[in-house]
Amino acid sequence: MNNYEYFENVDKNAAFIEDKCHICGRNDNCLDGVYFDQEGITAVCMSCFDKGAVSVYIPGYIKSRVINDVEVKAEKLSHNPPVPWVQNNNWQVCCDDFMLYIGEWEQNDFINSAGDCDVVEYFYGLLCDSTKAKVDDINVLWEDIGYDTVAYVFKCKKCNKIKVICQSY
Ligand SMILES: [Zn+2]
Ligand SMILES: [Zn+2]
Repeated sequence: MNNYEYFENVDKNAAFIEDKCHICGRNDNCLDGVYFDQEGITAVCMSCFDKGAVSVYIPGYIKSRVINDVEVKAEKLSHNPPVPWVQNNNWQVCCDDFMLYIGEWEQNDFINSAGDCDVVEYFYGLLCDSTKAKVDDINVLWEDIGYDTVAYVFKCKKCNKIKVICQSY
């Protein structure tokens, strides 16, 4: 298994499925193909994925978030495992590059990371603009983490900024 430029801790953070790899037919360690956003992909084993046999579709609205060398960066991103989004791909960008996906956080992760700060305020401060725009009551969103809401966490590799995207079932 590679070390991925934009995806941390694949064992924990990627979505795996029991099906057989649609390329080599083995069924060990297969990524769930549904998150590749490509027709006909059901499952891809890590070894086929690492060889570049299949890549993740990166939509134009994600690419448009990067200004310089976008094709090079998007090509790299397409060889990182996909985030298991509940809704659409919302890969975050900071310092003109894709951010590192560090996983889904539960309330406890935010509490530990907030230190002495008020945790709900801290959580709100980390939300990406698209999530903030949809918040009616931050306490309701906070209480829903771990139930119908998933909090995806990204980190900038240059400035270490953290951004959180919430998606609900
Ligand atoms: Zn395979
Ligand atoms: Zn940054």
